[in-house]
Amino acid sequence: MSGPAMDIGGLRVSSRSYWLDEALRTDPGAPCPGLTENLAADVCIVGGGFAGLWTAYELSEREPSLQIVLLEADICGSGGSGANGGMFSGSWHDINALCHYFGEAEGIRYATLLADQLDEVEQWTARHKADIAYHRDGMLFAQAEPWQAGPNFEAIGRLAAHGLPDKLRAVDAAAAQAVAASPRFCGGTLIDDLAVVQPARLARELRRVLLERGVRIFEGTPMLELQPGVPAGVRTPRGQVRADQVVIAMGAWGVSQPQFSRAFFVATDFMVITEPIPDLLEQIGWTSFTGIGDSRENFFYLRPTDDGRIAIGGGSVGLAYGDRIRGSVLNSAKKAAVAANGLIWLFPQLRGVRFAQAWSGPMDLTAAFVPFFTSNAASNVHAGLGFSGHGLAATKLGGKTLASLVLRADDEWSRLPVVGPPLSQLPPEPLRWPLMQAVVWAIDSGDRAEEQGRRRGVLRGLVASSVTAYRESRRR
Ligand SMILES: Cc1cc2nc3c(=O)[nH]c(=O)nc-3n(C[C@H](O)[C@H](O)[C@H](O)COP(=O)(O)OP(=O)(O)OC[C@H]3O[C@@H](n4cnc5c(N)ncnc54)[C@H](O)[C@@H]3O)c2cc1C
Repeated sequence: MSGPAMDIGGLRVSSRSYWLDEALRTDPGAPCPGLTENLAADVCIVGGGFAGLWTAYELSEREPSLQIVLLEADICGSGGSGANGGMFSGSWHDINALCHYFGEAEGIRYATLLADQLDEVEQWTARHKADIAYHRDGMLFAQAEPWQAGPNFEAIGRLAAHGLPDKLRAVDAAAAQAVAASPRFCGGTLIDDLAVVQPARLARELRRVLLERGVRIFEGTPMLELQPGVPAGVRTPRGQVRADQVVIAMGAWGVSQPQFSRAFFVATDFMVITEPIPDLLEQIGWTSFTGIGDSRENFFYLRPTDDGRIAIGGGSVGLAYGDRIRGSVLNSAKKAAVAANGLIWLFPQLRGVRFAQAWSGPMDLTAAFVPFFTSNAASNVHAGLGFSGHGLAATKLGGKTLASLVLRADDEWSRLPVVGPPLSQLPPEPLRWPLMQAVVWAIDSGDRAEEQGRRRGVLRGLVASSVTAYRESRRR
């Protein structure tokens, strides 16, 4: 970012997100004490983020008589699921990569199913009277200054060829600024299939519905060991679960399991949220709930809230070494300030706004940025991991896939192209961390150079484009 790092008012980066604090204040929910005995269950789900919660929901929907136990190391929603930007989005903007990976028909099928989850989650909230502050006003991927990427006409053309011409729409500066008046917006792409939600409320409402359905949730109960066998065993500090089927939905923490240690790397993203500023939102003309992203390599994403705040994240990431998801990788005030600075760079009219909270969360990023779903040889331990930065729709759909794998159903969910091992393995540590740091340095410092009117430079440009080329060379 140009200029000195923004003062975020001495804010420390909280271990809980603003969203989770707000959700717990509104409704802490029924207590779910830790496991203190040995139990038997039909299914044991490890992880109380969206992937685990949606899996439990799907199973309870399809087989209400199943005995389901869910183990969560901390509290449900305390991982990425309660910390994210709350952009519940289809993946039309990623359609080129999806078609490269999975072939034309399967890429389109997967993207269509992801987009369908927006309607489904809206119906889910109505059915269960869940208040998740859902607003479906779409998203603007803005080209903020000419150095940033403009609309992706290849993707627009590909979708049009499949009879989906309106999924991505290229817009000019006036239309981009009509969403919110950033003097930097010179065009962009509009996407209708995106809703903003209060993500921690979604996690906590899922938890409520599961408890109502008789799912046994144990919080403060980390899995210490997965014991293979039929049934499989899950050892925790003060009790054990023996279950016919186990689902690993540990998000970024899944990297601690040896079989997944090279499947993805763990990056942390940082977010900040302003105090309520409804008048300023009005002043910049941001009167809808349309989400906004800019189009730098390491992009900023921002969205308004029901009480007139702006939450923004992105612009930089932390990188965990192996499975060490702690320390400065989670609590760097400097990285949180990058997000705060990003808001002022995009909207100089907001200079001087006060920030209420800063936080971070870990993401499990596969090389291809798509999740994977695997089962062991005995077909009784299943995993859904690697949801990366677009996990809201993908975990909802992933819950259906994991439920189908548990029920051994041969259906459209178990036959999704993301079912199978990750599209590529990453190098092991100690190689991975320095390699990824070099990539992040090239991307971030390239963005900064361009922002300051300098050139990205050949080396940085090469690194950034080779990552894209590598990504798009993967195939199922
Ligand atoms: C800052 C940030 C912004 C993001 N923005 C967006 C966005 O706007 N849109 C979008 O679609 N996606 C976004 N994402 C990504 C999205 O949040 C994730 O892809 C998604 O929440 C992953 O869900 P999950 O259930 O796989 O993982 P998590 O939510 O991380 O859940 C995993 C759970 O497992 C628990 N656990 C870990 N180890 C154990 C153990 N040993 N035993 C038991 N439990 C364990 C953890 O405590 C955690 O609760 C963002 C992520 C971050 C961090």
